[in-house]
Amino acid sequence: MEIFNGTQQAIANKINKTSTISNWRDWKWQLKNSISNIDQFEKLTGITFSADEKSQLKKTLEKFPLSITPYYASLISTENYQNDPVFKQSFANVHELHVLDTDLADPLSEDKDSPEEGITHRYPDRVLFHVSNVCAMYCRHCTRKRKVGDIDFIPSKEQLQKGIEYIKNTPQVRDVLLSGGDPLMLPDSKIDWLLSELTAIPHVEVVRIGTRMPVVLPYRITDELVQILKKYQPLWINTHFNHPREMTASAKEAVRKLADGGFPVGNQTVLLANVNDCPRIMKKLVHKLVQNRVRPYYLYQCDLSEGLSHFRTPVGKGIEIMESLIGHTSGFSIPTYVIDAPGGGGKIPVMPNYIISWSTHKVVLRNYEGVITTYKEPDHYENKFCDRDCENCNLELNMEESDEMQSLGIEKLLADSNDSISLIPENNERHNRRDD
Ligand code: SF4
Repeated sequence: MEIFNGTQQAIANKINKTSTISNWRDWKWQLKNSISNIDQFEKLTGITFSADEKSQLKKTLEKFPLSITPYYASLISTENYQNDPVFKQSFANVHELHVLDTDLADPLSEDKDSPEEGITHRYPDRVLFHVSNVCAMYCRHCTRKRKVGDIDFIPSKEQLQKGIEYIKNTPQVRDVLLSGGDPLMLPDSKIDWLLSELTAIPHVEVVRIGTRMPVVLPYRITDELVQILKKYQPLWINTHFNHPREMTASAKEAVRKLADGGFPVGNQTVLLANVNDCPRIMKKLVHKLVQNRVRPYYLYQCDLSEGLSHFRTPVGKGIEIMESLIGHTSGFSIPTYVIDAPGGGGKIPVMPNYIISWSTHKVVLRNYEGVITTYKEPDHYENKFCDRDCENCNLELNMEESDEMQSLGIEKLLADSNDSISLIPENNERHNRRDD
């Protein structure tokens, strides 16, 4: 059982001969001793690079900084580090400097959808609140590579207050996702204050925290932190395991504390070439997650951020993985595979096709085994015309308290209450001609 194994003891002793298990399990000690340069990495792990490799790697670090907790470094398999999924996620690769024409600095257009410093408001009812610019580890595949770690920076209360004010003044925001960087890099007292401010806003129904701490610095999930978080239910926590090897005894203890604290814990995985682009690895990962009460939430296609081209797989690889999961394992172990649309279109779910054909009275489907089957549509379904104020709504929802529902996108085309018959892309020449 890894809690303080031989490798970890050796690393701790190289940091300081007098280091103890309590130092190792102290998150602040881990952060203080994080690896931020190649020499330190060589010294602590015993992995060495040639002078030529080092000079290339140094150029990479000038653009994208390095930070690895001693804990995460202790998980690297040093004998075969070139193929090691922990090494690849944490240590610099010269390919990060290869920027393709199609790469984007801000692929999700988060900066454009930012009405206030630190806030990304993309979807109607929720916002992303960037409350830290630092992380315990700088993941090499980070989609926010352009920002994370460029200036080590935890915003002041005054800066955070601007985001809080925006949320206060935007009544449609019912869900706030704290992100960064890693929000759990904030000291306990600031987390306590921030959550108390947010949960006091009447229209904020849910707060979520996105954190990679259980994976890269599980000792951050202390009993004290859990006691603070427990005051602010409903609080949802999403973490970021990418490989089954990351579910160590320490990581299990961290997610156990969160689940015992009563927080729904979800997991977001990024599909990464030569790290987890394999149906067997992914199945093992989702099984380990649910065994530890973590619900696989999203499987992300790797974004088009600069410096990530060596991590990207074809979308077909993701579909192949989903094909190997759906039906082959329990439904609650299966994440939704999404492409975060470049340009800020949000997450688009993608999956294999299961509908083969359709008539007015039958749907022909196939299952995971290849069995082709039919579902008979009901003969007497009476469609209710919905004008957003129908009998069903009035009976089942208290319309006084219910939000006005605005239709958008394809939903709008399907709505009885809306006369739109098409969605026209902006600058459609044919339609512009009609306007002339
Ligand atoms: S923890 Fe998240 S935000 Fe921080 S570097 Fe890793 S992927 Fe990026």
